Amino acid sequence: MRVLILGVGDAFTERGFGTSAVVEGPAGYLLIDCPDLIHRALSEASRSTGWKLDTDRIDDILITHLHGDHCNGLESFGFARLVSRLQRRNERLPRLHTHPAAAARVWERLAPAMDAPLHAGGRPSTLDDYFQSSIITPGRPATIAGLTVQCRYTIHPIPTIGLMISDGRSTLGWSGDTVFEQAHIDWLSGASVIVHEANIGPAHTQVELLNALPDPVRRKMRVTHIIDDFDPRSTDIRPLRVGEVLEF
Ligand SMILES: [Zn+2]
Repeated sequence: MRVLILGVGDAFTERGFGTSAVVEGPAGYLLIDCPDLIHRALSEASRSTGWKLDTDRIDDILITHLHGDHCNGLESFGFARLVSRLQRRNERLPRLHTHPAAAARVWERLAPAMDAPLHAGGRPSTLDDYFQSSIITPGRPATIAGLTVQCRYTIHPIPTIGLMISDGRSTLGWSGDTVFEQAHIDWLSGASVIVHEANIGPAHTQVELLNALPDPVRRKMRVTHIIDDFDPRSTDIRPLRVGEVLEF
Protein backbone atom coordinates (compact mmCIF):
# COMPACT_ATOMS: atom_id res chain seq x y z
CA MET A 1 0.00 0.00 0.00
CA ARG A 2 1.25 3.49 -0.79
CA VAL A 3 0.10 6.59 1.04
CA LEU A 4 1.11 10.12 0.07
CA ILE A 5 1.12 12.61 2.94
CA LEU A 6 -0.27 15.97 1.77
CA GLY A 7 -0.16 17.81 5.07
CA VAL A 8 0.58 17.25 8.74
CA GLY A 9 -0.56 20.56 10.25
CA ASP A 10 -3.42 21.59 12.45
CA ALA A 11 -6.08 24.28 12.01
CA PHE A 12 -3.63 27.07 12.83
CA THR A 13 -0.68 26.13 10.66
CA GLU A 14 1.14 29.16 9.23
CA ARG A 15 3.69 27.22 7.21
CA GLY A 16 2.10 23.98 6.10
CA PHE A 17 -1.12 22.27 5.13
CA GLY A 18 -3.87 20.71 7.19
CA THR A 19 -3.58 17.00 7.86
CA SER A 20 -4.59 14.91 4.87
CA ALA A 21 -3.31 12.10 2.66
CA VAL A 22 -3.96 10.20 -0.54
CA VAL A 23 -4.13 6.40 -0.46
CA GLU A 24 -3.41 4.58 -3.72
CA GLY A 25 -6.11 1.92 -4.02
CA PRO A 26 -6.53 -0.86 -6.59
CA ALA A 27 -9.39 1.10 -8.15
CA GLY A 28 -8.21 4.69 -7.79
CA TYR A 29 -7.05 7.27 -5.30
CA LEU A 30 -8.73 7.91 -1.96
CA LEU A 31 -8.30 11.36 -0.42
CA ILE A 32 -8.49 11.34 3.39
CA ASP A 33 -9.88 14.73 4.40
CA CYS A 34 -9.92 17.82 2.25
CA PRO A 35 -8.47 20.84 4.06
CA ASP A 36 -7.81 24.38 2.84
CA LEU A 37 -5.43 24.85 -0.10
CA ILE A 38 -6.15 21.33 -1.32
CA HIS A 39 -5.10 22.17 -4.90
CA ARG A 40 -1.77 23.54 -3.75
CA ALA A 41 -1.20 20.62 -1.38
CA LEU A 42 -1.84 18.12 -4.21
CA SER A 43 0.33 20.09 -6.60
CA GLU A 44 3.30 20.41 -4.25
CA ALA A 45 3.15 16.76 -3.17
CA SER A 46 2.93 15.71 -6.83
CA ARG A 47 5.94 17.78 -7.74
CA SER A 48 8.08 16.42 -4.91
CA THR A 49 7.14 12.75 -5.42
CA GLY A 50 6.36 12.30 -9.11
CA TRP A 51 2.79 11.22 -8.36
CA LYS A 52 0.41 12.93 -10.77
CA LEU A 53 -2.42 14.16 -8.59
CA ASP A 54 -5.03 16.84 -8.91
CA THR A 55 -8.75 17.05 -8.22
CA ASP A 56 -9.57 15.51 -11.62
CA ARG A 57 -7.68 12.32 -10.74
CA ILE A 58 -9.30 11.75 -7.34
CA ASP A 59 -12.82 10.30 -7.43
CA ASP A 60 -13.12 9.32 -3.77
CA ILE A 61 -12.97 11.73 -0.83
CA LEU A 62 -13.40 10.54 2.74
CA ILE A 63 -14.16 13.18 5.37
CA THR A 64 -13.49 12.30 9.03
CA HIS A 65 -15.41 15.28 10.45
CA LEU A 66 -16.63 18.76 9.69
CA HIS A 67 -14.00 20.91 11.38
CA GLY A 68 -12.73 23.29 8.71
CA ASP A 69 -9.14 22.08 8.78
CA HIS A 70 -10.49 18.74 7.53
CA CYS A 71 -13.17 19.82 5.08
CA ASN A 72 -12.68 23.45 3.98
CA GLY A 73 -11.36 22.27 0.62
CA LEU A 74 -14.61 20.57 -0.36
CA GLU A 75 -16.08 23.73 -1.87
CA SER A 76 -13.24 24.33 -4.29
CA PHE A 77 -12.87 20.59 -4.99
CA GLY A 78 -16.55 20.46 -5.93
CA PHE A 79 -16.33 23.57 -8.08
CA ALA A 80 -13.19 22.32 -9.82
CA ARG A 81 -14.97 19.13 -10.81
CA LEU A 82 -18.04 21.08 -11.91
CA VAL A 83 -15.82 23.08 -14.27
CA SER A 84 -14.29 19.83 -15.52
CA ARG A 85 -17.75 18.49 -16.34
CA LEU A 86 -18.83 21.71 -18.02
CA GLN A 87 -15.67 21.63 -20.12
CA ARG A 88 -16.20 17.93 -20.87
CA ARG A 89 -12.73 17.10 -19.53
CA ASN A 90 -14.05 14.73 -16.88
CA GLU A 91 -17.71 13.70 -16.71
CA ARG A 92 -17.46 11.74 -13.46
CA LEU A 93 -19.09 12.91 -10.24
CA PRO A 94 -16.67 12.54 -7.32
CA ARG A 95 -17.86 10.42 -4.40
CA LEU A 96 -18.01 11.98 -0.94
CA HIS A 97 -17.81 9.38 1.82
CA THR A 98 -18.44 10.22 5.44
CA HIS A 99 -20.26 8.99 8.53
CA PRO A 100 -23.98 9.58 9.08
CA ALA A 101 -23.62 12.57 11.44
CA ALA A 102 -21.35 14.48 9.03
CA ALA A 103 -23.35 13.45 5.97
CA ALA A 104 -26.46 14.96 7.57
CA ARG A 105 -24.81 18.39 7.94
CA VAL A 106 -22.09 18.78 5.31
CA TRP A 107 -24.42 20.66 3.01
CA GLU A 108 -25.00 23.23 5.79
CA ARG A 109 -21.34 24.19 5.37
CA LEU A 110 -21.38 24.18 1.58
CA ALA A 111 -24.83 25.47 0.64
CA PRO A 112 -24.26 29.22 1.16
CA ALA A 113 -21.47 29.04 -1.43
CA MET A 114 -22.79 26.30 -3.70
CA ASP A 115 -26.59 26.30 -3.82
CA ALA A 116 -26.98 28.75 -6.70
CA PRO A 117 -28.63 27.22 -9.78
CA LEU A 118 -26.12 25.73 -12.20
CA HIS A 119 -28.07 27.17 -15.12
CA ALA A 120 -29.88 30.52 -15.36
CA GLY A 121 -33.46 30.06 -14.17
CA GLY A 122 -32.77 26.55 -12.90
CA ARG A 123 -33.50 25.03 -9.51
CA PRO A 124 -31.19 25.63 -6.55
CA SER A 125 -28.24 23.26 -6.55
CA THR A 126 -27.86 20.51 -3.97
CA LEU A 127 -24.99 18.37 -2.72
CA ASP A 128 -25.92 15.79 -5.36
CA ASP A 129 -24.99 18.26 -8.10
CA TYR A 130 -21.37 18.21 -6.91
CA PHE A 131 -20.79 14.90 -5.17
CA GLN A 132 -22.19 11.42 -5.09
CA SER A 133 -22.91 11.04 -1.40
CA SER A 134 -21.88 7.83 0.35
CA ILE A 135 -22.42 7.07 4.03
CA ILE A 136 -20.01 4.81 5.88
CA THR A 137 -21.17 3.32 9.16
CA PRO A 138 -19.13 1.97 12.08
CA GLY A 139 -19.22 -1.81 12.11
CA ARG A 140 -19.95 -2.08 8.39
CA PRO A 141 -16.89 -2.35 6.14
CA ALA A 142 -17.19 -0.34 2.92
CA THR A 143 -15.31 -0.75 -0.36
CA ILE A 144 -13.81 2.53 -1.57
CA ALA A 145 -11.35 2.74 -4.48
CA GLY A 146 -10.95 -1.04 -4.17
CA LEU A 147 -9.92 -0.69 -0.51
CA THR A 148 -11.80 -2.02 2.52
CA VAL A 149 -12.58 0.88 4.83
CA GLN A 150 -13.82 0.54 8.38
CA CYS A 151 -14.58 3.44 10.71
CA ARG A 152 -15.02 4.09 14.41
CA TYR A 153 -16.28 7.18 16.23
CA THR A 154 -13.63 9.00 18.25
CA ILE A 155 -13.91 11.34 21.22
CA HIS A 156 -13.88 14.87 19.80
CA PRO A 157 -16.22 17.89 20.19
CA ILE A 158 -18.13 16.98 17.00
CA PRO A 159 -18.76 13.51 15.54
CA THR A 160 -15.48 12.26 14.09
CA ILE A 161 -14.27 8.91 12.81
CA GLY A 162 -10.99 7.07 12.81
CA LEU A 163 -10.24 4.72 9.92
CA MET A 164 -8.81 1.30 9.17
CA ILE A 165 -8.05 1.07 5.45
CA SER A 166 -6.91 -2.25 3.99
CA ASP A 167 -5.87 -3.49 0.56
CA GLY A 168 -6.05 -7.12 1.76
CA ARG A 169 -2.34 -7.29 2.54
CA SER A 170 -1.60 -4.17 4.57
CA THR A 171 -3.70 -1.88 6.68
CA LEU A 172 -3.43 1.83 7.39
CA GLY A 173 -4.79 2.94 10.75
CA TRP A 174 -5.79 6.60 10.89
CA SER A 175 -6.84 7.96 14.27
CA GLY A 176 -8.80 10.99 13.10
CA ASP A 177 -9.02 13.86 15.56
CA THR A 178 -9.50 12.48 19.04
CA VAL A 179 -8.55 12.77 22.65
CA PHE A 180 -6.40 9.89 23.83
CA GLU A 181 -8.59 6.81 24.11
CA GLN A 182 -7.09 3.40 24.83
CA ALA A 183 -10.02 1.62 23.15
CA HIS A 184 -9.32 3.57 19.95
CA ILE A 185 -5.63 2.66 20.09
CA ASP A 186 -6.62 -0.98 20.61
CA TRP A 187 -8.88 -0.80 17.55
CA LEU A 188 -6.06 0.71 15.48
CA SER A 189 -3.38 -1.62 16.82
CA GLY A 190 -3.97 -4.30 14.18
CA ALA A 191 -2.84 -1.90 11.44
CA SER A 192 0.53 -2.16 9.70
CA VAL A 193 1.06 1.58 10.20
CA ILE A 194 -0.86 3.81 12.61
CA VAL A 195 -1.10 7.50 11.83
CA HIS A 196 -2.19 9.14 15.08
CA GLU A 197 -2.96 12.75 15.77
CA ALA A 198 -0.99 14.67 18.39
CA ASN A 199 -1.85 18.19 19.39
CA ILE A 200 -2.48 20.46 22.35
CA GLY A 201 -5.72 21.30 24.10
CA PRO A 202 -8.62 19.28 25.45
CA ALA A 203 -9.95 18.02 22.08
CA HIS A 204 -6.73 16.28 21.09
CA THR A 205 -4.14 13.69 22.12
CA GLN A 206 -1.11 14.90 24.04
CA VAL A 207 1.98 13.21 22.67
CA GLU A 208 3.13 12.32 26.20
CA LEU A 209 0.21 9.90 26.42
CA LEU A 210 1.32 8.20 23.19
CA ASN A 211 4.84 7.98 24.62
CA ALA A 212 3.51 5.66 27.33
CA LEU A 213 2.18 3.10 24.83
CA PRO A 214 3.92 -0.29 24.53
CA ASP A 215 6.90 -0.53 22.17
CA PRO A 216 5.20 -2.65 19.46
CA VAL A 217 2.44 -0.06 19.06
CA ARG A 218 4.74 2.96 19.22
CA ARG A 219 7.13 1.48 16.70
CA LYS A 220 4.50 1.37 13.96
CA MET A 221 3.02 4.73 14.87
CA ARG A 222 3.61 8.10 13.21
CA VAL A 223 2.17 11.36 14.48
CA THR A 224 0.35 14.01 12.47
CA HIS A 225 -1.94 16.99 13.07
CA ILE A 226 0.97 18.61 14.89
CA ILE A 227 1.65 22.26 15.70
CA ASP A 228 4.14 24.10 13.49
CA ASP A 229 6.69 24.18 16.32
CA PHE A 230 6.26 20.53 17.30
CA ASP A 231 9.40 19.39 19.09
CA PRO A 232 10.44 16.00 17.70
CA ARG A 233 12.55 15.47 20.85
CA SER A 234 9.32 15.24 22.85
CA THR A 235 8.75 11.69 21.58
CA ASP A 236 10.42 8.74 19.90
CA ILE A 237 7.40 8.44 17.58
CA ARG A 238 8.40 9.98 14.28
CA PRO A 239 6.28 12.86 12.99
CA LEU A 240 5.03 12.47 9.44
CA ARG A 241 6.50 14.84 6.85
CA VAL A 242 4.73 16.67 4.05
CA GLY A 243 5.38 14.93 0.74
CA GLU A 244 6.40 11.69 2.42
CA VAL A 245 5.25 8.45 0.78
CA LEU A 246 4.51 5.60 3.18
CA GLU A 247 4.99 2.18 1.58
CA PHE A 248 4.11 -0.89 3.57
ZN1 LIG B 1 -11.16 18.41 14.70
